[in-house]
Amino acid sequence: MALIVQKYGGTSVGSTERIRNVARRVAHFHQQGHRLVVVVSAMAGETNRLIGLAHELSASPNPRELDVVAATGEQVTIGLLAIALSEMGLKARSYTGSQVRVLTDNTYTKARILEIDGQRVRKDLDEGAIVIVAGFQGVDSDGNITTLGRGGSDTSGVALAAALKADECQIYTDVDGVYTADPRIVPQARRLEKITFEEMLELASQGSKVLQIRSVEFAGKYKIKLRVLSSFDDPEATPEGTLITFEEEENMEQAIISGIAFNRDEAKISVMGVEDRPGIAYAIVGPVADANIDVDMIVQNIGASGHTDFSFTVHRNEYQKALSVLGQSKDKHFKAREIIGDNQICKVSVVGIGMRSHVGLAAKMFKSLADVGINIQMISTSEIKIAVVIDEKYLELAVRELHKAFELEGAPQPG
Ligand code: ADP
Ligand code: ASP
Ligand code: MG
Repeated sequence: MALIVQKYGGTSVGSTERIRNVARRVAHFHQQGHRLVVVVSAMAGETNRLIGLAHELSASPNPRELDVVAATGEQVTIGLLAIALSEMGLKARSYTGSQVRVLTDNTYTKARILEIDGQRVRKDLDEGAIVIVAGFQGVDSDGNITTLGRGGSDTSGVALAAALKADECQIYTDVDGVYTADPRIVPQARRLEKITFEEMLELASQGSKVLQIRSVEFAGKYKIKLRVLSSFDDPEATPEGTLITFEEEENMEQAIISGIAFNRDEAKISVMGVEDRPGIAYAIVGPVADANIDVDMIVQNIGASGHTDFSFTVHRNEYQKALSVLGQSKDKHFKAREIIGDNQICKVSVVGIGMRSHVGLAAKMFKSLADVGINIQMISTSEIKIAVVIDEKYLELAVRELHKAFELEGAPQPG
């Protein structure tokens, strides 16, 4: 008998029929004697619809109120799932984030979880109830509703698993695991039976939306046994999915590259002709960071005649805001010839711990992109990743070419 946290994503609870399907799966685990905490997302498309409503009324809705609106999606699904479970004769109780008390900071729309009070949940579990918790939401210390950023229900699930010291956290979604690339883009992609925590962290940070990056961070910090599974597979069958492991086991798939990630939510900003002097990077990026805008890839050119160009990428949603912050700091904090931007770019990354022991992988990546005429605009590397920024229109082509070049296709290998 284990304590399991199961998280079901938007597609998995996209209709009442699907919610009934989730209820059957939950009932199956409950009947096996497990103690269950179920975290659910809003119904598919619902969060987009809610955010869209707010934008119909304002080009930049007040973030506090936006969270009040966006958090309602999950309140609907927790109630519906509890109703479906009761209908099956099971004792189920639903809670919003603030009822559990998922305490977060007050960074509306991308709040961070600070603490979870597991008391209420544990009490219900002890009484034999199935506990259902709204994903994606929390409450700050002043009682304001907050949300955890898009895809945040994954993080709710893993954070709850950590707080409750659960035996396992299962992320149920519309694919049956983590693939070598998004199977919607690369039909030949194959499921990985296992992936190391480090690789998963890098894939998520490079844009693989199968897990929100903060959920992977939580899993790493608290060593949570985390598995990605399909909510559409037969609940009676032995679940396989993908296990996130913490050790590089000897019998793990020894691929050099584990997967390819992409992110189309990026935009590039270049500050041209700035003085090449100490402090210039801070003068440009400092005010952007102060405005709470995350800066991703940064490239500074070699200076010539005392001047240089400085480029960086930001989330596409924050592109206009970043441009206006730079417009305000130009001439105040730094001098520049011009500031230019491009929000039709994307980032494609290859990830694998095997990179540590292999050379020449960057050259292989650059060649395969060059062979199909794709121009690389920016490059960034880490020990286990190579990422490039390219024109967005080449995204699919680049991902497929790289998948082929690194021979990621083929039948599943033993784990
Ligand atoms: P949920 O609503 O269940 O949270 P998401 O849409 O957030 O589901 O995440 C699942 C989706 O992630 C898949 O449908 C798939 O298109 C996408 N995805 C991106 N990269 C990968 C990958 N490497 N492996 C599996 N799925 C991926
Ligand atoms: N419903 C939220 C979203 O669409 C959270 C989630 O699905 O994880 O981003
Ligand atoms: Mg998701």
